[in-house]
Amino acid sequence: MRTAERSPSIGNLARAAIAASAFGVASCSAGDVRSSDHLASVVSAAESAIASPPVDDDALKKVVYEDPPAPPWAPTDRAFHYPLPEDFGIRADSGGDGHFLAPRSHGKHNGIDFLAAVGTPVFAACDGKAKSDVRGGYGNVVQLVCKLPKELGGDEGLHASFFYAHLSRQDVPKKKWTQVKAGTTLGAVGKTGNAKGPRVTSHLHLEVIIRGSEKEALEERHAGVVPKANAAADRFFEILADTCLEPAKLEAKDHKLRRERRADPYVLLMCASKPKPDLTRPEDRHLAVAQVKWSSHYQARGFDVDRGPQ
Ligand SMILES: [Zn+2]
Repeated sequence: MRTAERSPSIGNLARAAIAASAFGVASCSAGDVRSSDHLASVVSAAESAIASPPVDDDALKKVVYEDPPAPPWAPTDRAFHYPLPEDFGIRADSGGDGHFLAPRSHGKHNGIDFLAAVGTPVFAACDGKAKSDVRGGYGNVVQLVCKLPKELGGDEGLHASFFYAHLSRQDVPKKKWTQVKAGTTLGAVGKTGNAKGPRVTSHLHLEVIIRGSEKEALEERHAGVVPKANAAADRFFEILADTCLEPAKLEAKDHKLRRERRADPYVLLMCASKPKPDLTRPEDRHLAVAQVKWSSHYQARGFDVDRGPQ
């Protein structure tokens, strides 16, 4: 009986219907198991379901492989001091974005604008030499030169030259190098230089340049291009990748971590600083609206970028 051979038995159809129901492609109750036409359509649905199981977007999302969690990471040599007593993150307002390499009318932003109230003390990031100056766009500025800890500067004795700009007050002598310790108060946040305008929320502009020796770092002017001055930064970023960026899986989301001999100050601090103050929302409404969190621009798997390594 060829007809009978082509038609699946009622028992098989019922089993197929149950299978189809389990796949969610057809549903039937006991009362539906009546006609072989109905059951044949269910079998057909079951067969195609077996051939290509239904796509469940939620289930797919669950099996997307995420990067394995990195072990908690913190610098082994916490030689640096966070430059402010509180952390309000990065400044961004109608006057400009304060993240590293943010676009600017003159090119790119060479430092980070740490959002802070006028009068907030600023601290030396490291043991070294500091002096005050007054210069155009920077306004009242303090330059700080330190030897990098071995974790960042290797055996070569690489040096960092920091610029703390737009200060209201300078606590180290003008144009005369003075020895300071990490954490020494260098001055206070202000709105001098090109931070004067009403559209610019008060902040500490911090900029850092990597040089090969103390002499070079003391002579550093933080201006323009110094030909052939990039070798020290090349070496610094090699060491930084091994000791911090790779183990912490720390990276910027939307910008590079260097511009020629300049380094991203946030990364330098996270890789060498004692635990920073918790990121908080300023009580001052004027400051609060200009706040951008670190996590808007950075990510790490070894620590929370808004809290810093603990
Ligand atoms: Zn700035």
